[in-house]
Amino acid sequence: MLVVHKYGGTSVGDLERIENVANRVIKAREAGQDIVVVVSAMSGETNKLISFAEHFTLTPAKKEMDMLLSSGERVTAALLSIALQAKGFDAVAMSGRQAGIVTDDVHTYARIESIDPSAMLSAIQEGKIVIVAGFQGINKDGSVTTLGRGGSDLSAVALAGALKADQCEIYSDVDGIYTTDPRIEPKAKKLDTISYDEMLELSSLGAKVLQNRSVELAKKLNIKLYAKSSFSDNEGTLITEESENMEEVLVSGVVLDKNQARVTLRGVSDRPGIAAEIFTMLAQEHINVDMIIQNVGTDGTTNLGFTVPQSEHLNAKRVMESFDHDIQGMDVDGHVCKVSVVGVGMKSHSGVAATAFSALAKNGINIQMISTSEIKVSMVIDEQYGELAIRALHDAYELDK
Ligand code: ASP
Ligand code: MG
Repeated sequence: MLVVHKYGGTSVGDLERIENVANRVIKAREAGQDIVVVVSAMSGETNKLISFAEHFTLTPAKKEMDMLLSSGERVTAALLSIALQAKGFDAVAMSGRQAGIVTDDVHTYARIESIDPSAMLSAIQEGKIVIVAGFQGINKDGSVTTLGRGGSDLSAVALAGALKADQCEIYSDVDGIYTTDPRIEPKAKKLDTISYDEMLELSSLGAKVLQNRSVELAKKLNIKLYAKSSFSDNEGTLITEESENMEEVLVSGVVLDKNQARVTLRGVSDRPGIAAEIFTMLAQEHINVDMIIQNVGTDGTTNLGFTVPQSEHLNAKRVMESFDHDIQGMDVDGHVCKVSVVGVGMKSHSGVAATAFSALAKNGINIQMISTSEIKVSMVIDEQYGELAIRALHDAYELDK
């Protein structure tokens, strides 16, 4: 069995923790696994390197930044390999280049274009444990590139794909994906399994555990992904294809997004092209729009509401002011949040949304906006009720059971 392990920054945060990882890898090795380990930089290291560059300029060349930032992962890879060798195990550390990872030219945010796994495979053949520096590759010219913050997860999944590994295990300081944030609801439970799509919807829960791009790639390549802790022997959460028994569970998790602001436009001219103009203008200003709701128009006007990230709400307001001839009134509220209920079971069960609305109603929470997808119901509410709403929803779907 060939397994890719990935250890995040906190898991390799100091020498003792690197030794702990070495011991875990040895244990898996002795259980018969062939192993490729992908490592992050020691925690805080990437930020430290960025601050070093910013000592000289706030706009360092991205190519040089890649040269700089890629070093953090190489330090960890080399140290882990040295630790394994010191314990009598045959290991080899590889940079992204040595692991055969080729990316495009977009420095500091490169995409992986191809992976030639032959060097890794021959090392495995020779009985070696392969350690790969995450977060990096090279472009066609041979310059080192990095994959964007949190990119070691992506390295791990991509390598698992190229190596045709049986599974990919992502280790951090959290032992899996929970039904909700345990800091908000202490009754939150760890999930045994979850589908890729649910994981992507619950991304703010998983943000610390799994990088989103890596989940998207795992879905595309159909790689069995585990989120586990390097500090315990708990089972973790398996992120995998949707299966029938997943659909028996109505709701997998509830999630709070505090980073939301609501813009409501009243008396918008009800003519073809108006929505295109408004949202093109917002896009040109790089304002990310999330929910959009429009009513059926009456008397030549309609109402249009949307949400934007909290930090963009004043920007959005300024942009909308340029539409004054087409809009009668505007209401911008930076004090809202979004609560979402996620579950593939919604596809085959009715009444899931009604349960959510009742749970909020029982707590006297007013719903300002609603949007739904096949596997999600989202509601915009006053930000002061966000955590209360999460607990109410967690209870309503009995997620602690
Ligand atoms: N070290 C990089 C970062 O901090 C990549 C990673 O840890 O995944 O973003
Ligand atoms: Mg990470």
